[in-house]
Amino acid sequence: MKYDVLIVGGGTAGLHLAYNLSKAGFSVVVVEKRPLEKLYKITGDAIGKTHLERSNINLPPRVIENEYRGAKVISPLESITLTIPGEGYSLNMYEWSRFLASRALNAGATLLDKTTAVKPLVNGLEVEGILASREGSGTMELRAKITVDASGATAVIRTRLPREWPVSEPLRPEDVSYAYREIIEVDYEIPEPDYIRIYLNQEISPGGYWWFFPKSKTVANVGLGVWGRLVKERELNPVHLYRKYLEKRAELRKKEILSSGGGIVPTRRPLSTMVWNRFLAAGDAAVAVNPVHGGGLGPALLTADLASHVIVEASERGSYDLRTLWKYNRLYLQHYGIKQAKLDIMRLALQHMSNSEIEQGLRANLVSSEEILQLSAEGRELRMVEKLKIVLRALRLPLSVIKKLLLAQAYMKKVELLYRSYPEDISYLPSWQAQIEKLYSEYLSKLSKLVSQS
Ligand SMILES: Cc1cc2nc3c(=O)[nH]c(=O)nc-3n(C[C@H](O)[C@H](O)[C@H](O)COP(=O)(O)OP(=O)(O)OC[C@H]3O[C@@H](n4cnc5c(N)ncnc54)[C@H](O)[C@@H]3O)c2cc1C
Repeated sequence: MKYDVLIVGGGTAGLHLAYNLSKAGFSVVVVEKRPLEKLYKITGDAIGKTHLERSNINLPPRVIENEYRGAKVISPLESITLTIPGEGYSLNMYEWSRFLASRALNAGATLLDKTTAVKPLVNGLEVEGILASREGSGTMELRAKITVDASGATAVIRTRLPREWPVSEPLRPEDVSYAYREIIEVDYEIPEPDYIRIYLNQEISPGGYWWFFPKSKTVANVGLGVWGRLVKERELNPVHLYRKYLEKRAELRKKEILSSGGGIVPTRRPLSTMVWNRFLAAGDAAVAVNPVHGGGLGPALLTADLASHVIVEASERGSYDLRTLWKYNRLYLQHYGIKQAKLDIMRLALQHMSNSEIEQGLRANLVSSEEILQLSAEGRELRMVEKLKIVLRALRLPLSVIKKLLLAQAYMKKVELLYRSYPEDISYLPSWQAQIEKLYSEYLSKLSKLVSQS
């Protein structure tokens, strides 16, 4: 057994975890299919400052391309704009990967690049490592005391574990969004480059949104995300939608396309468990993403921090078994997972609203900028006075929207209660999981009924 920790995937989660654990004295290997110099993740490039602060990351200037003061959320008819304060950065994703990789390497981690993880090596009820294939060297077996899947949304190891292990739960089309983006240089000076713009429009980006994130006065990251269920049902393609609706827009008048590409974003509630014997998942592979806006860079850092904490404790106890690693599930729920589950209820409500309902919702100024920040970024419950104000403003809304919002609010409460009673250990997981699935399907069927009535 050559390594203490084997990490599959050299993305944000994998490299940050490798850094943490190497620094703590563990022998760590990261298996990454891409060449080191081509490590790059296609994203909207935006990250909130709070995520970096929480993970004690000081960015070198070469990683930062732009600084944001907040977000503007724009209604379907583009007649209403909500400005939400919140500081953040536009990252240079090449430099971000280089920065994370060099930190991990300098701390002592080994990076096996150009090496593809093929499948897990399972022995009885334990994960022993992986089978990997390396360019020019054929296949090899890599073993470690604990294996971490940080391979992104495809979760190549987690989803290939035995189906009867709850950790292997695959993502269904309704659990993901498909996104496409271009980085373009425009032929004019972008106004207010210190605000990201999020456009809600169910025709351009069904079940998602389209974005315009300035990277400088003349360069922007522009893209859209579409809900996976609608991609499947209506055979939608984000690239086609981008070409059909966005390319023609005046603000996308471009000199040059600097980069283009897309990917899958998990947008759902947390997994019922992210751990197994000698195994855990982090980042997108663990479905740690904000389901409302699809931001996963911050949660990837968070899962890496929580995972390293739990792995250090497990090594002190001399056991990486399921019972010991279970704490990771509980810590994640406490730090973010419960919020994620509540935001997922909100996500489903938004996905079941029409353009005119969203337009009227924003026009009624139902939820103020501050309240949106608290609901979407922090997942906090609103105070009584705030709720009262909302009730008064809501009187201006169509009944269909009021009903959907009240339903969402009721189910956010129910979901929170259930997640707060998350089992102490695996033995109670099946009954807990049955309850959570029942709650979500009950919510979805009530939501669908409201849609058919409106
Ligand atoms: C178009 C788009 C826009 C987005 N915009 C934003 C945004 O603006 N802000 C934000 O916070 N989040 C955004 N996200 C989400 C964010 O990119 C992810 O949540 C985040 O990158 C997850 O990090 P990760 O380390 O878990 O996974 P990844 O960054 O996906 O890293 C996984 C790594 O595993 C490697 N890998 C995969 N399979 C194998 C294999 N078989 N063997 C070896 N290695 C393998 C990959 O090459 C990759 O390097 C966006 C996502 C997309 C697709």
